[in-house]
Amino acid sequence: MPRTLLRRPSSLIPPSSPSCYLAKTLSTYSVAGLSHSSSSRRKVAPTKSFVPSHSIPLSCRSYLTDSLRAHQARKTKMAPQLDGYFKQVDAFADKFIDRLREAVAIPSVSADASRRPDVVRMGHYLADQLKKLGAEAELRELGKQPGTDLDLPPVVLGRYGRDKNKRTILVYGHYDVQPAEKSDGWDTEPFELTVQEDGRLCGRGSTDDKGPVLGWLNAIEAHQAAGIDFPVNLLMCFEGMEENGSEGLEELVMEEGKKFFADADAVCISDNYWLGTERPCLTYGLRGVNYYAIEVSGPGQDLHSGVFGGLAHEPMTDLVRLMSTLVTPSGEILIKGIAEQVAPVTAEEEGLYDGIAFTMETLHESLGSKTTIFEDKKKTLMARWRMPSLSLHGIEGAFYAPGAKTVIPAKVIGKFSIRTVPNMEIEKTNELVIKHLEDAFKTLGSKNTMKAYPVHCGNWWVASPKHWNFEAAAKATERVWGERPDFTREGGSIPITITFQEATGKNVLLLPMGSSTDGAHSINEKLDKKNYIEGTKLLGAYLHYVAEEPMN
Ligand SMILES: [Zn+2]
Repeated sequence: MPRTLLRRPSSLIPPSSPSCYLAKTLSTYSVAGLSHSSSSRRKVAPTKSFVPSHSIPLSCRSYLTDSLRAHQARKTKMAPQLDGYFKQVDAFADKFIDRLREAVAIPSVSADASRRPDVVRMGHYLADQLKKLGAEAELRELGKQPGTDLDLPPVVLGRYGRDKNKRTILVYGHYDVQPAEKSDGWDTEPFELTVQEDGRLCGRGSTDDKGPVLGWLNAIEAHQAAGIDFPVNLLMCFEGMEENGSEGLEELVMEEGKKFFADADAVCISDNYWLGTERPCLTYGLRGVNYYAIEVSGPGQDLHSGVFGGLAHEPMTDLVRLMSTLVTPSGEILIKGIAEQVAPVTAEEEGLYDGIAFTMETLHESLGSKTTIFEDKKKTLMARWRMPSLSLHGIEGAFYAPGAKTVIPAKVIGKFSIRTVPNMEIEKTNELVIKHLEDAFKTLGSKNTMKAYPVHCGNWWVASPKHWNFEAAAKATERVWGERPDFTREGGSIPITITFQEATGKNVLLLPMGSSTDGAHSINEKLDKKNYIEGTKLLGAYLHYVAEEPMN
């Protein structure tokens, strides 16, 4: 697939990382709408009796059921060292929460220039922690942030282990966070990790993405303390600009593909979320996005409709007509040639959707209404994950304030985007869209001028969920959580996923730690203690199963 990434002009679209998009789609509404006592939260709370073992710290007793504990401790031929590793993680639970507390206390907000020193400090904190654990850590400078005087925060490149007889796994995460102020509506100080009674670890960055990043460090430390050989060589790439467009990272990853990352046998990214709150998942696909603008202009300046109405071609009238030719109210894309590019659904793929833990009720809850296009779960999930969609976003230059101003805008810019899926091609799609709009404009017979163009484009991504990388993660999930994970895709984009795949030529797995209600970009962001501690077990267990998987 040709790499085409048109950089967005910052004046047109505010910096928002695609995983911002993900977090928002999956979490914002639920977080805004879910009180702490909503039904999905209650399910997380303890309902069974617990093992009264003194070896289990207080902080872990609250959620591990007898059956899950017995399940994790069961003797299997596979990854026999995990028992000792799990015990050590439980014993270190409070220590790991303290580590998260230290990280959350550094307000590494990448979008806020005044916080840049804190972002840099966070990168140094991570590198220091890695070095204390005996890992190699390097702070790679990326130069100035384009259009500013600011230094970009360094990328932390780490390596733990150089054993030629072991596999090498490259992991990615980010140590910067979204902005947060108590006055935004947080119940607690956003940069002070608060451990709630129900096990929520509240604080900016807890789930996105400091918890998962520290999960890798915790895994190293627990192995050392338990005297268990680390099962793989670990390469780490932690960036500090993810929430602000990942400036400079793509170039670094491409450059290091055959250098620092050369040994990688597979890639694992822990920076997304479960589909719900109960069932863990592994993510094997993301949609891409092509974002477009349509500019229509004519008059030399804004006009008064009492003076010019009815005698001049109006840009807004043309634009509204054009935008209405793109999509139907039931989401059908009207641009010729788009549907033809979409890969047909195979029976095997269809089977993956059947058992997925997802209900229309939860969707309605997160949607905040029952206005879904489809009534059933499979069609709805397919609409989000594997079908293209076209959304109309807004009109720049239009009158939108309250009141009844009689203006005729002289120039308006319509914004829309298409979420793309296999096997849509960026260039082909751009051509189809532009041609559609030019043809449609001709039929209007307007003397105005129209210009349509792509603003930024990022490709879709699909990995093979049958690959040993996914198989290892599935086994680890089953061992830690007691059930097979759902295999999911997401409707948004994480462009760095494709970059890692292209740079290394290896399979990329998305292995989430947090759940759908974590509120990654919202107020009261949290990571459940359960997800943090069991998630740390999961990351370590994944590496053990990786070591045991047959390569082909
Ligand atoms: Zn993130």
